[in-house]
Amino acid sequence: MPVKTDLIVPTDRGLWCEAGGFYIDPWRPVDLAVVTHAHADHATPGCGRYIASANTAALMRSRMSGIGEAHTPAFGEPLRLGATTVSLHPAGHVLGSSQVRVVPEEGPTWVVTGDYKVEPDPTCEPFEPVACDVLLTESTFGLPIYRWGDTLAVFDDLNAWWRSNADAGRTTVVLAYALGKAQRVLAGLDASIGPIGLRGALHGPTGVYQEAGIVLPDWIHANATNAPELKGRGLIVCPPSASGTAWIRKFRGKGGIRTAFVSGWMRVRGRRRWGSVDRGFVLSDHADWDGLIDTVRRTGAKRVGVTHGSSEALARYLAEREGVETFVVPTRYRGEGDEQDGVQGPGGAA
Ligand SMILES: [Zn+2]
Repeated sequence: MPVKTDLIVPTDRGLWCEAGGFYIDPWRPVDLAVVTHAHADHATPGCGRYIASANTAALMRSRMSGIGEAHTPAFGEPLRLGATTVSLHPAGHVLGSSQVRVVPEEGPTWVVTGDYKVEPDPTCEPFEPVACDVLLTESTFGLPIYRWGDTLAVFDDLNAWWRSNADAGRTTVVLAYALGKAQRVLAGLDASIGPIGLRGALHGPTGVYQEAGIVLPDWIHANATNAPELKGRGLIVCPPSASGTAWIRKFRGKGGIRTAFVSGWMRVRGRRRWGSVDRGFVLSDHADWDGLIDTVRRTGAKRVGVTHGSSEALARYLAEREGVETFVVPTRYRGEGDEQDGVQGPGGAA
């Protein structure tokens, strides 16, 4: 009897579905790529054809060249690919982010989550659990130490900190990944405190969010022209790579500058890793420990493949405590932090 291989397998180019003739989030150019979201470790330019949500395709084009023909099905719309039926479902990670459901003509249904989170986020489509037999889940924060608090409380803290800085003539700088986190931070800011400036690298993706109807407060270009307006009372959102640069010092108020980093990593690493920041705010676009386990339960999957992050720990827990069969899937995805690759929008580094 022939050995039946899995529907989706890791290869040196990415996750390959032979029955459908496509890759999911390949890390090298391929003929047909189904892309879960526009972060650089999941979206590779130079593929022959793309299948992605409309917002993902728009975000990819705002950030990279070499994105050719793209088919953009609506969420839930079935698409025939080879001997499979494929559909995209919201992943709640960033705008447009999708899970990929693959139904073969016979055999178990698979869902590949890509990156996802279950916390509410007004800047992207909410996560939907998708019933399946086999789930391929990310595990960026797959350890019990990672449990996110109330998002609204995080923004209350952030706005209170900005207000106290502005009262003391200090410019507030918030380091946030350029796609997803920066826009989520923007949406939570209280614009009555002062002007909001965005570094050029953030303009492209932020424009896509606004065109998609995501409500964000007014912002201005954080550049030399607008520096006098931002100094001492404004809040500047920029990628982590801008931390400690001469560019940042242009915005110094009479009381100086205060810098915060907004990331799930702030839960433990804090100042140890980000020595130059004054504050850390814990806000992640990935599921925390409870979110990962709850998602496995809600899909009803009996087999769970775990990829990028704390794969071994999560796989062991699920096997021992949840009674599902687990396997670890090697991939090149990097999880939270994938924006530190120097990817710039059309606005460049200015
Ligand atoms: Zn991502």
